[in-house]
Amino acid sequence: MRYSAAKILWQGLTGNRGWKSVWREPQPKSEYDIIVVGGGGHGLATAYYLAKKFGHKNIAVLEKGWIGSGNVGRNTTIIRSNYLLPGNGPFYEMSMKLWENLEQELNYNAMVSQRGVVYLSHSDAQRDTLARRGNAMRLAGADAVLLDEAEVRKNFPYFDYDNARFPITGGLLQPRGGTARHDGVVWGYARAADQLGVDIIQNCEVTNFLIDNGVCSGVETSRGVIKAKKTAVCVAGSSSKVMAKANMRLPIESHVLQAYVTEGLKPVIPGVVVFGAGHFYISQSDKGGLVFGGDVDGYNTYAQRGGMPVLEHSCEGGVALMPMISRARVLRTWGGLVDMSMDGSPFIDKTAISGLYFNGGWCYGGFKATPASGYCYAHLIAKDTYHPNAAAYRLDRYLSGRMLDERGVGAQPNLH
Ligand SMILES: Cc1cc2nc3c(=O)[nH]c(=O)nc-3n(C[C@H](O)[C@H](O)[C@H](O)COP(=O)(O)OP(=O)(O)OC[C@H]3O[C@@H](n4cnc5c(N)ncnc54)[C@H](O)[C@@H]3O)c2cc1C
Repeated sequence: MRYSAAKILWQGLTGNRGWKSVWREPQPKSEYDIIVVGGGGHGLATAYYLAKKFGHKNIAVLEKGWIGSGNVGRNTTIIRSNYLLPGNGPFYEMSMKLWENLEQELNYNAMVSQRGVVYLSHSDAQRDTLARRGNAMRLAGADAVLLDEAEVRKNFPYFDYDNARFPITGGLLQPRGGTARHDGVVWGYARAADQLGVDIIQNCEVTNFLIDNGVCSGVETSRGVIKAKKTAVCVAGSSSKVMAKANMRLPIESHVLQAYVTEGLKPVIPGVVVFGAGHFYISQSDKGGLVFGGDVDGYNTYAQRGGMPVLEHSCEGGVALMPMISRARVLRTWGGLVDMSMDGSPFIDKTAISGLYFNGGWCYGGFKATPASGYCYAHLIAKDTYHPNAAAYRLDRYLSGRMLDERGVGAQPNLH
């Protein structure tokens, strides 16, 4: 069923009885050409592009919970391509271009809203760093505008400019950055993949791999053995646990990252704002809630809920930047499992085990990567060659010293 304004009108007039399920609930087959492990945004995007762009038909996505239960339904919805390093910039800009046409391509309202992302500077040195980043972005084909203090003030008159502990000296704006409705994205990919014949199997946990003589021929699951010529893992925060079953130790730590939303307020924040003197970022949802977040909780965990100290720290950043936020009431908080890599950059790679592929290490920035990650992973699985925009995301980069450390903080995942 194609969605359109005419369809909504017709269904509205006829009691909304004609809507069909958004995707099927098939039983797992005993064998597929390709199995994607993990039905998050990246896994479903991979399955969609495998079917749509690379002509594969016999694909299953195995999800241990329900579609949208992982990070893809828990993130703060920010999309941007304001990256510095050559290994990252073209990849995230490719993603941004895919976002710009995503809703037409999937025929699904993912509420992609390009209202701009601003990173603030609080010293001259920090403004120089943002200028350098803006130049790198433009070289990678992205858009970037350096704002002075007066321009920031014009757009955000309610920030604390005159008595602030961290005075605002300017900002770097990416006008094409913004937000997208996170679960709309995963539902859109799921529906479009299903329409291309991909079997989406929910409540199906992969418990082991079938590996013999260095070749992977499928998986054991909570719903039985499923064979496949190629198995592509894409489980974000569970990467280390799942790949340990293939005897692989990854350069990844899992941390919990929290997000918070306030009661609905009148529109006040036009796009996304990132505070430069602490870890705090904020946007406003269509329902009016201020959606904000900050640091990861600085300990390893597989629990999808965090502690109060990080909430307090995020709120401190918010109040330092815009004191009026102290009067808003926090409605909900939640956490998600983020797969923090040692240099803060991801992996899209083959493994040493033939037929087994790995995608992970997205840290807390993988939502914006969803379309390009799916596309480049599908390219790798289908052709066994790296997509040029994702060629830097190799598992062996620490061996060869080609780290992609965007923030320059070294092997300290909690700081990336
Ligand atoms: C609070 C928070 C805020 C964030 N904000 C942003 C943001 O603003 N912008 C941004 O770009 N990124 C953001 N991120 C990061 C982003 O959400 C993740 O990097 C991205 O969603 C990870 O990819 P995914 O969607 O495939 O992950 P997930 O949705 O987590 O998908 C992985 C799936 O694998 C499944 N799985 C795990 N183990 C197994 C198994 N054994 N068998 C089968 N299935 C399994 C899980 O159930 C899960 O559904 C944020 C993350 C969090 C937690």
